[in-house]
Amino acid sequence: KSDFRGTFSFFEAEMDARAQSRRKIELDLRDAIQSEGLRPYYQPLVDLGSGRITGFEALVRWPHPERGMISPGEFIPVAEETGLINALSGLMLYRACKDAAQWPDDVRVAVNLSPLQFRTGNLLPLVTDALKQSGLPARRLELEITETLLLEKSSQVLATLHALRALGVRISMDDFGTGYSSLSYLRSFPFDKIKIDQSFVRDLGSNRDAQAIVRSIISLGMGLGVTITAEGVETESELSCLRAEGCHEGQGFLFSRARPNAEVVSLLGAQRGVEETSALVA
Ligand code: C2E
Ligand code: MG
Ligand code: MG
Ligand code: MG
Repeated sequence: KSDFRGTFSFFEAEMDARAQSRRKIELDLRDAIQSEGLRPYYQPLVDLGSGRITGFEALVRWPHPERGMISPGEFIPVAEETGLINALSGLMLYRACKDAAQWPDDVRVAVNLSPLQFRTGNLLPLVTDALKQSGLPARRLELEITETLLLEKSSQVLATLHALRALGVRISMDDFGTGYSSLSYLRSFPFDKIKIDQSFVRDLGSNRDAQAIVRSIISLGMGLGVTITAEGVETESELSCLRAEGCHEGQGFLFSRARPNAEVVSLLGAQRGVEETSALVA
């Protein structure tokens, strides 16, 4: 009996420690949001036909004073639970639009949204204001949503998505294939791009089932007339597989990790340089 109680208090202590570390992350995150200690890094989206960079996805990075770089996997869940995600994503939206406004006119920026932002009801004015303040044309902004948002089957979500698209903003379905959305949702929700989740891309070389899934997502996307992007492209063999299947776009460590804005500018400068050189040669 005493053994049992011993075990029980061990779990209690464990849970207490976890709650405390969450609480600490929450407090630090609140500070970081206020002091602009969070910043976007940008990962290229590459056109698989031409090899050109068509845009960048903004991914939040948190250089913590004591702990070094903390990964979003650790603090996004805390931000979602505490509602801090609204402030966090808002901050990222403004920063990303402002940075992208300085990039060449044919390069887009993609920003991740949380389902919570659709519930607070101020998403449309927020996006409108971020575009206006930065001067970024709406057609250069992509908003990434996940299938969990569609699960709510809410008419308010649907209306907001339509209104965002009416602004000229593009909507991408992130992590496609990992959620529970049924094909019928795809018909009723307006979107412009499907991002195949990296878990399917990861197994492309070795697993025939993954190949079949990727192939059917691509033909589904083509049937719907949307752009198809593969996430988490890490190897040449994954790349050639995706090319063979006709996938439009790729994103992953094979091309580049997410980088700070200063490096984006030089990356795009280099791309332009190469194009100008080959134009001269041609
Ligand atoms: P996501 O939107 O699906 O972003 C892609 C994630 O995959 C990023 O992780 C990226 O660094 C990682 N990744 C890209 N290429 C590769 C690859 O080749 N191999 C592997 N193993 N991973 C790759 P990250 O930056 O850790 O972000 C994780 C998630 O956190 C994101 O998934 C997104 O859901 C969320 N997130 C990040 N930034 C924000 C933000 O500003 N707002 C919101 N609401 N969520 C965000
Ligand atoms: Mg994303
Ligand atoms: Mg994703
Ligand atoms: Mg993801």
